[in-house]
Amino acid sequence: MNTYTIELNTRDGKQFSFGCADDQNLLAAAALANIVLPAQCGQGNCGTCYAEVGHGDFTLGKHNPSALSQDQAEAGGTLLCCTFPKSAMRLSLPFNQDRILQSAIPIRNANITALDSVGENTLRLELQLSADEDGSVAASFEPGQFMELEVPGQGIKRAYSLANTANWDGRLEFLIRLQTGGLFSGWLRDQAAVGQTLLVHGPKGAFGLNESGLKPRWFLAGGTGLAPMLSMLRRMAEFQEPHPAKLYFGANRVADLFCLAELTALQTELPQLQVVYCVWQAEPDWQGFTGTPVDALARDLASAAQLPDIYLCGPPGLIDATVAAAKAQGVPDTQVFSERFLPS
Ligand SMILES: Cc1cc2nc3c(=O)[nH]c(=O)nc-3n(C[C@H](O)[C@H](O)[C@H](O)COP(=O)(O)OP(=O)(O)OC[C@H]3O[C@@H](n4cnc5c(N)ncnc54)[C@H](O)[C@@H]3O)c2cc1C
Repeated sequence: MNTYTIELNTRDGKQFSFGCADDQNLLAAAALANIVLPAQCGQGNCGTCYAEVGHGDFTLGKHNPSALSQDQAEAGGTLLCCTFPKSAMRLSLPFNQDRILQSAIPIRNANITALDSVGENTLRLELQLSADEDGSVAASFEPGQFMELEVPGQGIKRAYSLANTANWDGRLEFLIRLQTGGLFSGWLRDQAAVGQTLLVHGPKGAFGLNESGLKPRWFLAGGTGLAPMLSMLRRMAEFQEPHPAKLYFGANRVADLFCLAELTALQTELPQLQVVYCVWQAEPDWQGFTGTPVDALARDLASAAQLPDIYLCGPPGLIDATVAAAKAQGVPDTQVFSERFLPS
């Protein structure tokens, strides 16, 4: 067995290094060195531990092509949980050092305070965190991050993006699409009720706002992919950030759009925000954009005065199509940020 030195560089220039044996994956070896990186499934399925290899040889283990496409792998991308070193390696991480923990991921109890239907098969779940060991109830996280919610005693744990922003009161808000036959979905539909307790693991994840001057920020969400976009836009509103902002929100049918009142309220607090509602199978009297949010974004990119930073969230197909459309219009990869809602 050989052990190699692994060097990780964050987007804001911080360097971390640790040793990794050739039969260990980089994510696990980093955790053993108390470097807890953004990750979720640890099995090559979710894509959360994406990084770029600058130097070194490695074996890439079994992974889901939706989490790391062949194009991404050929361009030097990898998933840390499936990367086994064959030499010393240097990698770039697509996030800043503040997303790396040097202690275990917090686990806390939280009570369900609201569980409302906001559309067909879509729920809004609100939780109230219990006090942590220091007696604080505060909910600390960055917009764009997710939590893993666990039903105690049932072995069901799933990732959900936060829709609200960090707060002292311990409130967490999620938008959840019920998947047919899904375990967590079934529990939410049939058993969950206000007052019940969940275990909350997190915050986790590297998705979030990129601080790069005053470039316009365009956000594209499919279905409940709206959750992290709401969080980022709400943060922009709280801080009164002046970046031009546009949200493309897509659904199959008009009836599948949700959170319309929340988005209207947000436009009052963030007046530069434009919202483009995109419906694929629209009725003839539909006033918004007919087509996918990818079509609307490609149309607007073609005439954009300045290429924006683009934030994407939703099913992998939607993200791949948007990445391709952005590339075709000359948007550099470094200006595209995404979170894929894969089975967790
Ligand atoms: C980082 C991350 C953040 C996420 N955030 C959100 C969020 O904010 N809101 C949200 O609604 N979901 C989100 N998801 C997806 C969520 O974690 C679950 O996968 C989903 O809710 C299904 O869980 P389940 O237990 O009901 O289904 P499972 O019992 O896990 O699966 C049941 C069946 O549904 C399929 N399936 C599971 N998830 C999906 C999916 N997302 N799309 C299509 N088919 C699926 C499975 O392949 C399986 O066939 C996120 C996923 C990740 C990785």
